[in-house]
Amino acid sequence: MRRKIVAGNWKMNKSFQDAEELVAEIADKLEALGQAREEVVLCPPFVYLEMATDIAQESVFSVGAQNMNDHDEGAFTGEVSGVMLESMDVEYCIIGHSERRKYYKEDHELLARKVDAALRHGIRPIFCCGELLPERESGKHFEVVRKQLEESLFHLDTAGLSEAVIAYEPVWAIGTGVNASPAEAQEMHAYIRGLIAVKYGSDLASETSILYGGSCNASNARELFAQPDVDGGLIGGASLKADEFIRIVTSF
Ligand code: PEP
Repeated sequence: MRRKIVAGNWKMNKSFQDAEELVAEIADKLEALGQAREEVVLCPPFVYLEMATDIAQESVFSVGAQNMNDHDEGAFTGEVSGVMLESMDVEYCIIGHSERRKYYKEDHELLARKVDAALRHGIRPIFCCGELLPERESGKHFEVVRKQLEESLFHLDTAGLSEAVIAYEPVWAIGTGVNASPAEAQEMHAYIRGLIAVKYGSDLASETSILYGGSCNASNARELFAQPDVDGGLIGGASLKADEFIRIVTSF
């Protein structure tokens, strides 16, 4: 179902105490807002997931992981599986974030397997795609994003894709303070929706949530979210402060 979603990607930040305080503060502020109109997803580091899912039981937000292994179990020291996430009531998992593509060399094939692993365990992938600055400057951004989607997401059948959320995150906008303009975001989101329509039909295309990520904050969220094909945001730095994050959540 196409939903408005704001997801916070905390990356590798916060002590346990600070993380617990932030989750509790966000939960309180969401409660004060009344019935949340949008889906709010918090993606803290693995070690804080249990704390977050405990608080989520009494709140209106969902919990997501930032990564997962493509195997269900076995000799993969240091890794976390879909079996584990499912057993902790984790509902979403970010897959294909540009930092994992860059620092951990995650390629299209691995990401396709991670998407499959998430779906095997009822976890909704938040699949990230987006071009590097030179790729945009040379006019290859549509081609790059199309390939990322075709290689790692579009092997899914209709039922699988209907569980997925897509996050368009131009790499040049992540953590730089330079967001894509609303027009640039809309152009790419409409392109992505068009690709889904060609492959899966217009009904599923119009039902798919496509989030924007990359220096989205309380000052620019309203304009970005006002675009017809932008269904919310994947928020990094600005998700680490409760006030700012809630301002983004209420930017629709
Ligand atoms: C991200 O890492 O997914 C992200 C969007 O980061 P930031 O909001 O800090 O640019």
